[in-house]
Amino acid sequence: KLGLFIPVQRRFINPVPVSTTDRTDSLHSSFVPELVYFEPSALDYPKGKRIMEWVAAAGIPYRMTNSHNRITNLPGESELEQYKIAKRTLVVGIRKTLKFDQSKPSAEYAIPIATGCMGHCHYCYLQTTLGSKPYIRVYVNMDEIMQAAKGYIDERAPQNTRFEAACTSDPVGLEPITGSLRELIEFMADEEYGRLRFVTKFHYVDSLLDARHNGHTRVRFSVNSKYVIKHFEPATSRFEQRIEAAGKIARAGYPLGFIIAPIIWYEGWQEGYAELLSSLAAALPKDASAGLTFEMIQHRFTKTAKNVIERRYPKTKLEMDIDKRKYKWGRWGQGKYVYPDEQANALRMFISERIFEHFPDATIDYFT
Ligand code: SF4
Repeated sequence: KLGLFIPVQRRFINPVPVSTTDRTDSLHSSFVPELVYFEPSALDYPKGKRIMEWVAAAGIPYRMTNSHNRITNLPGESELEQYKIAKRTLVVGIRKTLKFDQSKPSAEYAIPIATGCMGHCHYCYLQTTLGSKPYIRVYVNMDEIMQAAKGYIDERAPQNTRFEAACTSDPVGLEPITGSLRELIEFMADEEYGRLRFVTKFHYVDSLLDARHNGHTRVRFSVNSKYVIKHFEPATSRFEQRIEAAGKIARAGYPLGFIIAPIIWYEGWQEGYAELLSSLAAALPKDASAGLTFEMIQHRFTKTAKNVIERRYPKTKLEMDIDKRKYKWGRWGQGKYVYPDEQANALRMFISERIFEHFPDATIDYFT
């Protein structure tokens, strides 16, 4: 069955052009799926057609599917094999649910432009929220999605309404294929009361640099200590690549931020996080640090997540010992295990101090 898949070296091909303008992305290693599914009606949309042309030109195997929510014939002998293949499978469909979920504390709503991610972060909550559907879905009906966003903006005007585009995916990782973020950024630029934000562990931002954003989109990069990136974030961009991309984003005039998440307590965490902030300060161009925001999220997990993670990454060093954690009741049923208050406070205080030491004008939006 694996005969379906393209050889490794063919994954490294040029990304699909996102528009007719010539914007060369210097990312010859951006994500290229090994298998693609299309909903037939997705091909009625320009974005669906464009992705199909790229898939055909690149010789990527594809199949048709009646629903992007029911991919049942994924190759792979075991659950683990299927999971790995799913993470490299792209499904191109139409977003039917246009009711947006809430997205506290970073925004009012989650805007759905993609679901699933090619990254292999051990701690990622998509492990559980996507359950048996870890494949990557992208939606071609952007006009309808933006129309729905407009409805939410009008409802709350004259208050600003913030939309988070990275709740169920890492949209920057997919941008070379879809171009959807660029569309969303330019849509939000014209919305007086609309704001967009997204967070990423990828560096594929070149096609966003000349987008018309009007300061209405905040781009945040997810950063962490070397230990966390090395042990828990396979298949994402390196720290240096993320910082280089952050510099480009700042120079393009976008509001910029960093999310330190998940903050993990491990032996040597103080040195690890101190080094993170000092290397951030050293690597970030000076003109990039005005108006910086930081968000901090301590590591948490549910019992279900622990089970799934241990099955999918059996050798993980991720500490998930419920006896060492504090149980935090969840609003929607299952609660989460976070660090006990004393540890959480120590993490919050130490990292906040390092942030202000290196970036005295930055704002810390929250620690959770
Ligand atoms: Fe999850 Fe983000 Fe890692 Fe993707 S990059 S696996 S969305 S944590």
